Amino acid sequence: MSSQLEQIIAEQQRLIAALQAAAKASPAAVARQRYYERNRERILAATRQRYAEDADRRAQIRARQRDYVERNREQIRARGSVRHECPCGSHFTQSNRSRHMRSRGHLAWAAKQ
Ligand SMILES: [Zn+2]
Repeated sequence: MSSQLEQIIAEQQRLIAALQAAAKASPAAVARQRYYERNRERILAATRQRYAEDADRRAQIRARQRDYVERNREQIRARGSVRHECPCGSHFTQSNRSRHMRSRGHLAWAAKQ
């Protein structure tokens, strides 16, 4: 098969995939996507401008977070070292809670409940 024909077929398959995706999407989603594609440059420029204008506010938030951690270091450390007992018979700290809930041992216990 010539590579030109292969290219045409690949292009046709891309178009078919795009049409199938559009047919599955709701009319509103298709309209949103087309609006975005037509106004992409303007939307991205506005997003970049907002991001630049928000630099001060982001710096303020970072400073406030640093300040909070400094003032509450002991309390944060204490909270992190508390071991919770799980009904499955195991233990976890708060920061590892969601990891424990997905663990093999906990899931095996939960399946038996
Ligand atoms: Zn558990």
